[in-house]
Amino acid sequence: MQITEIYKSLQGESTYAGLPCVFVRLTGCNLRCTWCDSEYTFHGGRKMSLEDVIVEVKHLSSAGGLVEITGGEPLLQEREVVPLMSRLLEDGYRVLLETSGERPLERVPAGVIKIVDVKCPHSGEADTFRAGNLAVLRPRDEVKFVLSSRTDYEFAREFTRQHALAGRVNAVLFSPAFRKNATGGRDSSHCLLDPQELAEWMLADEVPARLGLQLHKFIWDPALKGV
Ligand code: SF4
Repeated sequence: MQITEIYKSLQGESTYAGLPCVFVRLTGCNLRCTWCDSEYTFHGGRKMSLEDVIVEVKHLSSAGGLVEITGGEPLLQEREVVPLMSRLLEDGYRVLLETSGERPLERVPAGVIKIVDVKCPHSGEADTFRAGNLAVLRPRDEVKFVLSSRTDYEFAREFTRQHALAGRVNAVLFSPAFRKNATGGRDSSHCLLDPQELAEWMLADEVPARLGLQLHKFIWDPALKGV
């Protein structure tokens, strides 16, 4: 499979935020979100076998723990990444899969915790969510909306209500988008949508969702890769 990087850091998002995690970042994406901060994954990378990846994960975290499969869009390499996820589960890791919501999820192994995006209008990739994926969500999974405007927020709020997401999954995450060229200061001024404003909207509307901030961008320079 084609891999951009494998590294250990703290998980920055989801209900697992703050926990040590090994990230396996696969190369390539078929979407082009306006605020994407992972454009360096679109090309390049190195070819690695399943065994190569396992050796590197074990080197970084020998005693099990959290591994996130991410990208790019990891399910573009489904034929390789599904056996990889199965193997990591067999070896005792807790496996998270970050995916755009556009790829089918049926073949993701049952033990994997899926963190599934629903792209909002101002992402530039509206309407890419695969409706059939709703039926594949399990109580341990999480659904994430990255928001850059009031329009995005209203879309996420209505989608959450319409599909009763809170009752289907472990968490519904509303996360302000970061400016993709953010660098320097480690504060919320880089968010395209003010977290305070978002928090107030969520409270006023009693949305059954969790506000998520990308923790790693408040710990390290937002421009740093591999953290
Ligand atoms: S799906 Fe993810 S990797 Fe692909 S363009 Fe959107 S944010 Fe970037």
